[in-house]
Amino acid sequence: MSMVLVVSEIRNGELKKINHEVYTAARQLADQLNLSVATVLLGTNLESFTDVPSRFGVETLYLVEDPKLEKYSPDAYAAGIAEVIQQTSPAVVLMGASATGKDLMPRVAQKVGATLAQDVIQFRVENGDVLFTRPMFAGKVWADVKLTSRPQMATIRPKAIRPEEKPVEASVEKLSVSIPDPLAVVEEISTSGGGKLDVTEADIIVAGGRGMKGPENWHLIEELADVLGAAIGASRAVVDAGWRPHGEQVGQTGKTVSPTLYIACGISGAIQHLAGMLSSKYIVAINKDPDAPIFKVADYGIVGDVFEVLPRLTEEIKKLKSE
Ligand SMILES: Cc1cc2nc3c(=O)[nH]c(=O)nc-3n(C[C@H](O)[C@H](O)[C@H](O)COP(=O)(O)OP(=O)(O)OC[C@H]3O[C@@H](n4cnc5c(N)ncnc54)[C@H](O)[C@@H]3O)c2cc1C
Repeated sequence: MSMVLVVSEIRNGELKKINHEVYTAARQLADQLNLSVATVLLGTNLESFTDVPSRFGVETLYLVEDPKLEKYSPDAYAAGIAEVIQQTSPAVVLMGASATGKDLMPRVAQKVGATLAQDVIQFRVENGDVLFTRPMFAGKVWADVKLTSRPQMATIRPKAIRPEEKPVEASVEKLSVSIPDPLAVVEEISTSGGGKLDVTEADIIVAGGRGMKGPENWHLIEELADVLGAAIGASRAVVDAGWRPHGEQVGQTGKTVSPTLYIACGISGAIQHLAGMLSSKYIVAINKDPDAPIFKVADYGIVGDVFEVLPRLTEEIKKLKSE
């Protein structure tokens, strides 16, 4: 039986949470296509990661262990995955559309002569083919993409799929793959957030824009984010002004996010900002201008001054939580 193959992402010695979403997507697709689900893990000391995928319905784990894969190398990883695809002939190949996924999968697709749908937010099966839905033109349209080459390859946008556990018995198979000497290796990834929750992985985001007037007022955003357990996001205007680090920027030239709740505070809603957050499940906008474009996409709008609304909102949520 052919399969849906997931390329698992390991970062800093941990299996990233986005894998749970991609395993779930693979399971859903496999059930509709009558296929099995497998995943490939690349690196060293992989035995410790073998429990998690089977909780999400992954039946086969392929391990590719090689000292050359100890650190992420775009070229060595792409070569390794391309060989795994050649050895196992999957019908569909998926990975999370994280920074690594977006970097790696186009290289793999090129090596195996397949096309790739990047940053997919939904999918469905029609006449045995997968139709992948992906936002295009800065989120102005959603396109259904049918891939005519094989395998059908896609990266799945973080938070687009809700992870669902579906435990199965899994078999583990070590594959012998020849890995070339890496041309480039990622030595270190430094995050400016100091270990704080990353916007791409957060379920709730509180984002601030130029309406916050200056970095000295960001404690209002931080306090609301704290009570909600949210990550902090920012518009490009405030990042360009040096008020916030680039890692927090949401939008066309920043990060793409799909949280359950996105609270935009003093953000006008320029198309380039919307491109990064339009697939959020619920959007709440706080803006003193009732004609701000952000209100056109908001599920709930508060026309008001952030300096009055934010402290009240934080206090009310604190009260609700203590009840
Ligand atoms: C090629 C390109 C790529 C870009 N990429 C991105 C990107 O990735 N992300 C991004 O965000 N932008 C991006 N931009 C910039 C984008 O066009 C906007 O300039 C930017 O999003 C505006 O940021 P803002 O909403 O914070 O500021 P503004 O547009 O200045 O909006 C500030 C808002 O705050 C409101 N406000 C002011 N005071 C208060 C108050 N006291 N209380 C409540 N509301 C208040 C105002 O009514 C206004 O709506 C890009 C632009 C280009 C050309």
